[in-house]
Parts: sequence; C-alpha cells; structure tokens
Amino acid sequence: MSAEEVAAAAEEVAALAVDDDELSLDFGKKKKKKSKAKEPAAEGGEGEAGAGAAAEEEDELSLDLSLGKKKKKKKAKARGEDDFGGLEESGEGEGGERGGQGLPWEGSDRDYTYEELLDRVFGILKAHNPELTGERQRTKLKPPQVAREGTKKTVFTNFMDLCKSMNRNHEHVLQFLLAELGTSGSLDGTQRLIVKGRFLPKVFETVLRRYINDYVLCNSCKSVDTLLDRDSSTRIMFLRCQQCSASRTVSAIKTGFQARTTLIRLEDTIIFSLIERAQFARNDPVYEPDAIPVPGFRPDGRRYSLLEYLLRETEQVHGRIRRYTSPDENAFFPEELPPLVLPPITYEQVLSSCARVNINSQVLSMYLEHLLPEIAAPGDDHNYGSSAMNDVTALQALSKRIHYGMFVAEAKFRKQTAEYTELIRRRDGDAIMELLTDRAVELKVIERVRLKAATFGQDLGSSSDGSGGGGSSSYKVRPEVVAALYEQWVMPLTKQVEVEYLLRRLDGESS
Ligand SMILES: [Zn+2]
Repeated sequence: MSAEEVAAAAEEVAALAVDDDELSLDFGKKKKKKSKAKEPAAEGGEGEAGAGAAAEEEDELSLDLSLGKKKKKKKAKARGEDDFGGLEESGEGEGGERGGQGLPWEGSDRDYTYEELLDRVFGILKAHNPELTGERQRTKLKPPQVAREGTKKTVFTNFMDLCKSMNRNHEHVLQFLLAELGTSGSLDGTQRLIVKGRFLPKVFETVLRRYINDYVLCNSCKSVDTLLDRDSSTRIMFLRCQQCSASRTVSAIKTGFQARTTLIRLEDTIIFSLIERAQFARNDPVYEPDAIPVPGFRPDGRRYSLLEYLLRETEQVHGRIRRYTSPDENAFFPEELPPLVLPPITYEQVLSSCARVNINSQVLSMYLEHLLPEIAAPGDDHNYGSSAMNDVTALQALSKRIHYGMFVAEAKFRKQTAEYTELIRRRDGDAIMELLTDRAVELKVIERVRLKAATFGQDLGSSSDGSGGGGSSSYKVRPEVVAALYEQWVMPLTKQVEVEYLLRRLDGESS
C-alpha cells in the first residue's frame, strides 16, 4: 500500500465514521490560533496547512504535512507553547481560551463592551465548571511525534505516552496500528515504536482517531473515561463508560489487509461501469483495429482500435501526473508512458520489488472476450465514444482491483511466512493457490457484488410500465450475470496475480 493510499483510505474511513468535530479530539493542530501576525514575512503564503505550533515544533512534521511546500524554519518561540496537555479534560471553550491569553481590552484604556464581559464570565465559568456548560469536554492528546529512520522505517517517539493518555494497553493499540497500516513494527529499547515503511504523521493521527473512536470513546456521552475489558467466557470485548455506565461491545482488531475500503470502492466502480456500458450495444467497430481512423499505429503496423486509442491516450495524460508511479497502478501500455509533469513521489516499499506482476493484457482480453459479450446486447447503435469511455473506466478499475492481488498476497505472506516460504521454495503454485483461497470469503464477495449490481442496476423507469412480476426485466443487467462474471473471471485473475507474485516473492532475497 502506498502512503497516499493508506492516507486516503484512512481519511475516507474517518470521514465515514464520525466527523472530527463530533469526535472532539484535539491533536493540537487544527484549533490552534494562528500566531497573531508576528512574523508575516516569514509566514509568506504557505503557513496555512498544518502550520500550527505543534507542526512548527518539528521540522519533520511540518515538512510532511505541507507536502512539497517549502520547509519551515524551526522557530524558537514555538518552544514555549508545549501546552497540549496529556489527556487533560480542560473544558475550555472560546471564552476560556481567551481568558487564558489576555483580555481584549487589556493594555488599552478603553472600557470593555458588554459582549466581552459576558464572554469573559462564561469563559471563567466554563473553565472552572466544564460540566455546567453542557458542552462536550475537549479531549486533548499530544500529536504523534513521528520521524523517519533511514529510508525504510518510521519512528513514533511518543507512542507509549499516547497509550497512557488514552489509558489503553499498548499491546492493543500496537496491534490496531499495525493492522491499519498493514505493516510490522515493534518497540525499541527506549520504548519508541519503530514501524516498517514510511508513513506521514497525519496517517498515525488518523489511525489513532479511529482507535479512539472504536476503543476509547463512549458512544452515549462521548466521554473518554472508559475501560476496555474482555469477558473471559465469551471472549467478547466490552467498553464500559465510567461516566454514564453505558456499555457496548467492541469488535476484535481485524488484522491482515487494511485496504478493504479501497477494494470495495473499486468493486463499486467496476459494477457501475459495467452497468453503464450495458446501456449501449456491443458496437464491434470500437474494438477493431483500422475500423475507425484514429491517429496512431500499433507495433504491428495496424491502426489502434478506438478503445486502444482512448485507453492509451488516457494513460498518457494520467501518466504525466504520475498515476503509474503508484505501486497499485499498472498501465496497459507501460512501455509507452510519457515523462512526468509532477515530480515523482517516493512510496514506501510494501511489495517485494522483484515480484511485481502486470497481467493487463489478460485483463483486456478477459474484458473483451467474456465480460463485454455478456453485458452488452449484440448490434451497433453508433455510441462509440460513450461505449469506449465506459470501457476505459471499467478496465482501469478492473486492472487495479486485480493487481491488488499483490498486496493481498503480501499480507497473506506476512501472516503465514513459514507456510508460504515452503511452498514457494517447492514452486508449488497449486498448493499456494489452495492456501490462499478462502471460499467463505469468496462467496461473501460474490453475494456482495450481486447485491450491489441489484442496487446500482435497477432501472427505475421500466418498473412503472405495469408489467409487474418480471423481476429481471427491471434491471439493465441482471445482478446474477454481474456476480457470475465476477466469480468466473475477475476473482480468478486476482488469484492468478497473487500466485504469480508469491512465486517471485523470494527472488530478491539474499542467500
Ligand atoms: Zn458514557
């Protein structure tokens, strides 16, 4: 998984779960007031993103957060502002903060206004009696202190402090963190967490937010004064609130593959684009070389088909903005990719670099030979452009989904290293296939695809024609067809990628 992917997936999850405000968590950055125009020249245009006091405190952090912006100079003045507190529950609202930072009328001889005075009264009231204000208490947590170590590791310095602040067993937090990041790691001699791979501080922050949301926060009163314990007979974990005594079960940490959200989104794209494509006829000329006079010729001297032309041109544009530098992207025309317009990004190496697999030629023929004939009605309606555009969307999503098999395989390999190593040494592809196949999971995926196809593909227009009864007639494509295509073609290709990847997995390893 690339850092970008992890961040994107984690962000998506965070956005879906609870919005940050609701969570009332403060990592010390966002709410921080901007230093009042103290050094306007030095701030320049950049300061906005993550330039809070916390960020300034760590060069590393501020650099990473502002992605490519100029590196910020460390400022001595930021030192004093180390007031993020532990897990203190300071009921400070707007007024409270102001009370602590000097009064608006201070230093002038003007009188205060009524509003200012009121503000001050409420500020003091809130500061001293947080429970009276009816406001949620703001939980303060220090921002994760994260630095790179060498080129392949990330150090999370205050990991233990944060576990203490959350009042959670560090083993549990560690298990969650590593599962979410899809990596391995451990504490070093000085209790710093060393994680394999390069991750931005923001990623840790997002994961910790999720952890708190899942395993610390009381759902009823939003208090963080909770305990986590396991029922010894059922092994079910409970979160019990010390404030309101509410109790809820929490799920076990899902180890293994954390790119689930990305995979599910790709699945949506695939299903949706297939259904979109089904609006149009087969339109054979789109796929025939020489049929439509597009610019450009294939290596065999024939003119590109319209689909090849559009796919290649799309990759030319996307390639310039570095789409194919991402480890989870594979081009259909990899040897023809253009120079980058954006500077390259260094991704953390999750996959074994010598084991990369690109089976896009098979993805393309699978699509043309098996998927397309099933979903598009025979014939020609001259909607060539629309057909080809949907084809490109479907193909790109299919390719990405299928090549994610490499990440799935890597996760499985790390989980059962000994078993896979043995089979890889014996070059036993069949046994590898068997070991990585989980039929129960596959059936779940197929059922999910069928349900989605039923939901996305409902043709609302035709249900009003009074025909009634005929369930299948109200779908653009029958959900069973989409599910069957997924099962027969998409999933086997994914597994083929997994096996091919694993067979090469140990090639680069020394000795
Ligand atoms: Zn509660």
